[in-house]
Amino acid sequence: MLAISSELPIVDCQLIRFGVISEEEARRRILETVRPLDKRAVPLAGALNCFAAHDYFAGLPLPAFDNSAMDGYAVVASSCRKDGQLRLIGEQPAGPDRKLRVGDGEAVRIFTGAPVPQGADAIVMQEDVTRHGTDISLNVDVEAGEFVRRRGCDLAEGQMILARGERIRAATVALLASQGFANVIVGGKATAAVISTGDELVKPGEELQAGQIYDSNSALLSALLHGCGVSAATVEHCRDDRQSLGNAIKRGIKNHVLIISGGVSVGEHDLVKEALCDLGAKIEIWRVAVKPGKPFLFGRVEQDTPSPKSSPSRRERRTRSAGEGFVSGSECLVFGLPGNPVSAFVTFLQFVRPAVLRMMGATNLDLPQVPAKLGVGLTNDGDRPHYIRGRLEHGKFTPIGRQESHALFGLSQANALLRIPVGESLKTDEIVDVQIWD
Ligand code: AMP
Ligand code: MG
Repeated sequence: MLAISSELPIVDCQLIRFGVISEEEARRRILETVRPLDKRAVPLAGALNCFAAHDYFAGLPLPAFDNSAMDGYAVVASSCRKDGQLRLIGEQPAGPDRKLRVGDGEAVRIFTGAPVPQGADAIVMQEDVTRHGTDISLNVDVEAGEFVRRRGCDLAEGQMILARGERIRAATVALLASQGFANVIVGGKATAAVISTGDELVKPGEELQAGQIYDSNSALLSALLHGCGVSAATVEHCRDDRQSLGNAIKRGIKNHVLIISGGVSVGEHDLVKEALCDLGAKIEIWRVAVKPGKPFLFGRVEQDTPSPKSSPSRRERRTRSAGEGFVSGSECLVFGLPGNPVSAFVTFLQFVRPAVLRMMGATNLDLPQVPAKLGVGLTNDGDRPHYIRGRLEHGKFTPIGRQESHALFGLSQANALLRIPVGESLKTDEIVDVQIWD
């Protein structure tokens, strides 16, 4: 531990000696920093991909009343036999219950979703009936219960329909609507900014000069955020210049999350760490043992960005945050992702995604994992866990494209990631768990 006076104008990050840490450690440190944002009510139409802020229970059974599964005739099964005749006594469409009553030898014309009249215990499909004016003759035998959708057979009253922290999907929205909910209480809305750094970058649509490349990470990171239910508030490009970076970061940290791509490695043009330090950022992580993605950075910046001179002393900072962790809205979580697109992709999924999801109130922060048969043998003889990009098809995982961090085409063809720990050898046809993201 360095003994340095708290009055010295030295920002926190300069005092920390960064070691390369494991993925598990990085994830743990990031997640213990994140507190869920305050919950809010949203109209059902805006709830897709939000996370329920409390458990929801069925106030109504589904179906809410016995109803017909077919267009046909409501009958008393025990009074029916093949070739028998029934007398039509009325009609019940879907809609208000006409309170009809069916007796032996009688039938009520009925339509899909209509309440089953009292006395009836079966529906005969209209295709199985021949109609003669006000009578029908049955072309089939009839069993009690046929084509009747029983009250509560799908969902019982009081049954849990949505758990706290669960993602609201299209079918969840429909289920909530079926229960009469117009609004849902969901986790807070995380806001995010994206900055892509690099003198070589050009915005798609503009003309490229020799040595320049199109900025693809802005699109990548916006799309990945979108997949977490967050639309990026701002997406900007910034040159490799400390001053411009500082200004862009000042704008970006007005959000809960700032994602910076590029400039986090060890070259002279990698200025993100310094620019963050200039703003009094607390760099918590720099470099994680993961391939691709090692230069990954994670830090926190107070949103009212004090200048280094006026920044509070280390002791003041510690007192302010003692025991409280991250107070939502007062600090921005900053993720510095390596510029190579595959590294940005992998580190987003492994580190940014879980943090953003926790902020929004999700309880399951993991990517879905599915078992797959390995198409080829693979060994990791490197010094970091390796995420292999591959294609999962019909239960078989096959690596695809160049397994290098710049290889964007290969990534675009992949739909699954296989994590191989250091020193592990996997054989062809072995069953492995792979992560999927779309
Ligand atoms: P850096 O992390 O800044 O050292 O960049 C590493 C590699 O990623 C370099 O080849 C960069 O040109 C490339 N790169 C950085 N940012 C982007 C971006 N936004 N889009 C595409 N490639 C990028
Ligand atoms: Mg760069």
